[in-house]
Amino acid sequence: MNIHEHQAKELLEQFGIPAPKGFVAFNVKEAGEAVQRLPGPVYVIKAQIHAGGRGKGRFKEASAGEKGGVRIAKSREEIEQAAEQMLGATLVTEQTGADGRVVNRVYVTEGVEIDRELYLSALVDRATSRIAFIASSAGGMDIEQVAHDTPEKIISVSIDPASGYQAFHGRRIAFALGLEGKQVGQCVKLIGDLYKLVLDKDMSMLEINPLIVTKGGELSCLDAKFSFDSNALYRHPDVMEMRDLTEEDPAEVEASKYDLSYVKLDGSIGCMVNGAGLAMATMDIIKLCGEEPANFLDVGGGASKEKVQAAFKIILSDPSVKGILVNIFGGIMRCDIIAEGVVAAAREMEITVPLVVRLEGTNVELGKKILAESGLKITPADNLGDAAEKITAAVKEAA
Ligand code: ADP
Ligand code: MG
Repeated sequence: MNIHEHQAKELLEQFGIPAPKGFVAFNVKEAGEAVQRLPGPVYVIKAQIHAGGRGKGRFKEASAGEKGGVRIAKSREEIEQAAEQMLGATLVTEQTGADGRVVNRVYVTEGVEIDRELYLSALVDRATSRIAFIASSAGGMDIEQVAHDTPEKIISVSIDPASGYQAFHGRRIAFALGLEGKQVGQCVKLIGDLYKLVLDKDMSMLEINPLIVTKGGELSCLDAKFSFDSNALYRHPDVMEMRDLTEEDPAEVEASKYDLSYVKLDGSIGCMVNGAGLAMATMDIIKLCGEEPANFLDVGGGASKEKVQAAFKIILSDPSVKGILVNIFGGIMRCDIIAEGVVAAAREMEITVPLVVRLEGTNVELGKKILAESGLKITPADNLGDAAEKITAAVKEAA
């Protein structure tokens, strides 16, 4: 799960990590009021969306002006004007895709005089099974580009959980960033505090781009992008409260209500499968047959009819789905429950695309009977290969 920059800044403050002061605003009035609580004379108004590249982004609406999602203001009037233009407008950045994201809140923050912009992130590195910090003196820009063009400018320091964070980790990063004097000590503390934050809050990733050295020689986190391990959210009600459903894919939000593991993908074949392994295999075999899956969907082991129905409706409501493959191996899951869920969903929403069903396992005969008696137009399949060939052929034919 991701959170907004202003929420990430609150967490930084809680952990004593330096960042410019700021306040979130949901309307123009609130944005203007922030001025009383900030030192001035320069303010920065930042669009809050779950995507980076805001500074270089552009709004779709002409009324939002020519500037991007990070704007400088020097008075209350200018803050209000920027907020007025941004709120409700759609910001398109390198990370949002062409559709962009609607800005529902802005962050009003102190304008800081920047000497240098650096890059810092921390993530769970699966290769070493450790938390690793990635740092680069080339901050403020697209780190993927830096990694591609000048990989020597990026260093990585991983922390052994047995010994924990040590000052030498921080010093190594400080020297790689070209920090000097008291900044080295500040960096050692900063990395240690960030490491604690990542651990305490079960974060999967944190990105400070840019981490800056101010004209006054101090380190400060100018931007902050945080992601959390969804499986650990139950331990963090404070983080859970920061969830902004308007930033998430509506189908994924709907799926999470029913505890379905659903991920929207770019292809055309909707998949309903039980078990993550079988779902992966189903996606693989669809690709092998020359098509692309429209989603990953694991309805889980002991799903109810209602859950299956909800899952099937999510697939049916995806306009990019041109065919559906139901692939169920009934172990704990019963095939008749799947059949009932599919039939119930089909009663609510018309199925206009080809549907191939492969059922195997517990109560398979009953499941097949329910489907056969439903009057739905279903192509049965005998095994995984057969099912994938049938659905890809049907989709190609319909196209
Ligand atoms: P994004 O990464 O989404 O573009 P950032 O917060 O990184 O947003 O802002 C982009 C750039 O805007 C920064 O690299 C920095 O140069 C400038 N900037 C952002 N916040 C401030 C601030 N509070 N004071 C001065 N400059 C800022
Ligand atoms: Mg940034």
